[in-house]
Amino acid sequence: MQMNTKYIFITGGVVSSLGKGIVSASLGKLLQARGFKVTIQKFDPYINIDPGTLNPYEHGECYVTADGMETDLDLGHYERFTGIRTTRDNSITTGRIYKTVIDRERRGDYLGKTIQVVPHITDEIKRKMLRQDVEGELLDFVITEVGGTIGDIESAPFMEAIRQLRWDLGRDAVCVHLTYVPYLKAAEELKTKPTQHSVKELQGMGIQPDILVLRTERHLDDALRMKVASFCNVDLECVIQSEDLPSIYEVPVNMQRQGLDAAILRKIGIPVGETPAMKSWHAFLEKQRGASREVHVAMVGKYDLQDAYKSIRESLSLAGIYEDVKVKIHFTNSEGLTRGNVAGRLAGMAGVVICPGFGQRGIEGKILAAEYARTHDLPCFGICLGMQMMVIEFARNVLGLADADSSEMNPATPHNVIDIMEEQKSVTQKGGTMRLGEYPCVLRPGSLAFKAYGGVESVRERHRHRYEFNNRYREDFEHAGMECVGVNPDADLVEIVEIPSLRWYLGTQFHPEYASTVLHPHPLFMSFIKACIGHGTIEA
Ligand code: GLN
Repeated sequence: MQMNTKYIFITGGVVSSLGKGIVSASLGKLLQARGFKVTIQKFDPYINIDPGTLNPYEHGECYVTADGMETDLDLGHYERFTGIRTTRDNSITTGRIYKTVIDRERRGDYLGKTIQVVPHITDEIKRKMLRQDVEGELLDFVITEVGGTIGDIESAPFMEAIRQLRWDLGRDAVCVHLTYVPYLKAAEELKTKPTQHSVKELQGMGIQPDILVLRTERHLDDALRMKVASFCNVDLECVIQSEDLPSIYEVPVNMQRQGLDAAILRKIGIPVGETPAMKSWHAFLEKQRGASREVHVAMVGKYDLQDAYKSIRESLSLAGIYEDVKVKIHFTNSEGLTRGNVAGRLAGMAGVVICPGFGQRGIEGKILAAEYARTHDLPCFGICLGMQMMVIEFARNVLGLADADSSEMNPATPHNVIDIMEEQKSVTQKGGTMRLGEYPCVLRPGSLAFKAYGGVESVRERHRHRYEFNNRYREDFEHAGMECVGVNPDADLVEIVEIPSLRWYLGTQFHPEYASTVLHPHPLFMSFIKACIGHGTIEA
């Protein structure tokens, strides 16, 4: 019998960066393993309509869903952990909520009424939180993660919406609160007071958490958990600890061991049943723990921040694990690369990834890295802007077009080997207007890309760009040895270039990193890592 959809709300307190996204993704994984149909959604309190216009330094990578929404990087965790695709409905911001309400007001839907945060904004938040299906298929669980930290002024309407929903839904709603238990070195003590305060704050907003997840760098003993339980009005079995672990992918099994999913089912009144074995997940973890060799890969980009290229990092590591290697990523700032130091900076690397990006800053360094990899036959993977820089480098140094450029960087270049897409020429607005989301790509039989994908005729991949390979130069490139082996069949847009005479030199206009998951690492990353291993691994 189909049950009503159940709702799990995940909030965070004390500090940010506790790994709420990982806990949400882990919980999604555990419920999915029990056979439930699950979706995980993120509500962010900022006013941007989406994070597409945010600098990665502000908010990390912008993750793109298959249906073309620019979203928070936590959606990447949700997809990597569960393999369940997210859509534009899984990423909501205060900006989107307000826009819907204001558009309605302008249309006259509320004629005569004063539009207020409560009830109009909170009602719209509730409406979005109360999803029941994905493409017509009923959901058993909707997990809603609220970004930011409770107590933030801008998250107040979300908290009010959760409070109301708790009341309306009764047992069909569960609140999970993630907090921090710091260890004070000088006192040699773990401190629960910040957690107590955070829970009090939540209670002050009318929300009693059912489950507490305590982030901690040290193991918490039962006495400490008991203390938290009694101060915060939660059951002992509902005080879960999230200790630092060697890998984020250990989190689901750690949560399962402590009974997080079972505690939620009990709260809701669903029979707990047997604990799922999660065989393939455990097999993956075994491989991860057992990887003994190391492979060193340079990531050439301009954002010196771990989260800025989150999905690429994860895709590289995941692919490595399946090949029994630890991928050691060396971030190489493209702004600092010069002809004089590029050899030194890339020395000892088994491969290079040239990262996506926008604008002028650091592109000459990316071009130098592409040249170095091409002329030294170092495996090289260019993604989006990275692919475009491979193309420019080839045009300049092989085709002899010294002034070749992208019209993004130099609109006046006579050799715009990368040019603005026709459909983009009339676009004036910045938000959500790029070529976004999934499009098909037909592969050339026999090519490296074709082989990497396992010999399929065509694939679908996600995009985020305004510029493209200029087809006027296609023949020249093909003749000189850089082949256009992946093409969009409808737009004739070049999606993949490669140099077959080299070991592994390939660029994609699309972003394969968005589609890599724990159980299904992306075939291009697998193929690239294999080439890197062939080039150089080190016994750890
Ligand atoms: N700036 C380039 C474009 O818009 C590449 C974008 C990217 O790397 N995501 O086409």
